[in-house]
Amino acid sequence: LNKGKSKEEILRKNNLTVAVNNANFTVKKGEVFVIMGLSGSGKSTLVRCLNRLLDPTAGEVILDGKNISNLNDTELRKVRRKSMSMVFQNFALLPSRTVLSNVEYGLEVQGIEKEEREKKAMTALKQVGLSGYEHNLPSQLSGGMQQRVGLARALANNPDILLMDEAFSALDPLIRSDMQDELLDLQEEMQKTIIFITHDLDEALKIGDRIMLMKDGETVQIGTAEEILSNP
Ligand code: ADP
Ligand code: ADP
Repeated sequence: LNKGKSKEEILRKNNLTVAVNNANFTVKKGEVFVIMGLSGSGKSTLVRCLNRLLDPTAGEVILDGKNISNLNDTELRKVRRKSMSMVFQNFALLPSRTVLSNVEYGLEVQGIEKEEREKKAMTALKQVGLSGYEHNLPSQLSGGMQQRVGLARALANNPDILLMDEAFSALDPLIRSDMQDELLDLQEEMQKTIIFITHDLDEALKIGDRIMLMKDGETVQIGTAEEILSNP
């Protein structure tokens, strides 16, 4: 098919965009791995390929030595539950549910019974400093606190990996800075692997053990803050 046509030609003809191409990287257990790039550089698409919210047209995702690229829905759901939780920029809280109920939501979907659900949710809320706010509604909380709820919801399952997509980008600068500090504390304490998307270089340099720079869907550079700064 399409013999003799360049890739660019085919894409243009069919009005397609390549969101990510040639992204090749390994995230180490227990590190904060930042994916940094301008808006539209392919960060969200890439991370959605990691947990298969999107199916890449090519490529593989290896988790703990296991190829998860071709799992069926049931197997995939298992992997997601055990291994990966996502935190979103817009918090994605359910407005008519209490803080506790929001954190329990994912556990409820999994069919975990009330008592255990509540125990896990309370533990997660404690981890993010929100004990005492269980029965508030999201609208009664500040932006920073709402994002703590989002974080608690992701932690409730005790996943190995947190996928955070511009998770602090909607917050005021001071609150954002606090949240960055707290995330680093939490990470150290709980030894989570964190894959953190941001378009903010300062944020990337501050929190990233390693940073991957993306441009136009491609990996430009991977390194520590020092390496990135010394090799612009
Ligand atoms: P980032 O997260 O770095 O802002 P995205 O992964 O959202 O980048 O987008 C990468 C590219 O893919 C952009 O050109 C964007 O316009 C395009 N894109 C993303 N999502 C869609 C979509 N659902 N439909 C069409 N194009 C999309
Ligand atoms: P409520 O009745 O409290 O408004 P629902 O449980 O009816 O909330 O959910 C409202 C919508 O939000 C549903 O379409 C549901 O699929 C979606 N939703 C539920 N949980 C989440 C979540 N954790 N993140 C994003 N959307 C969600």
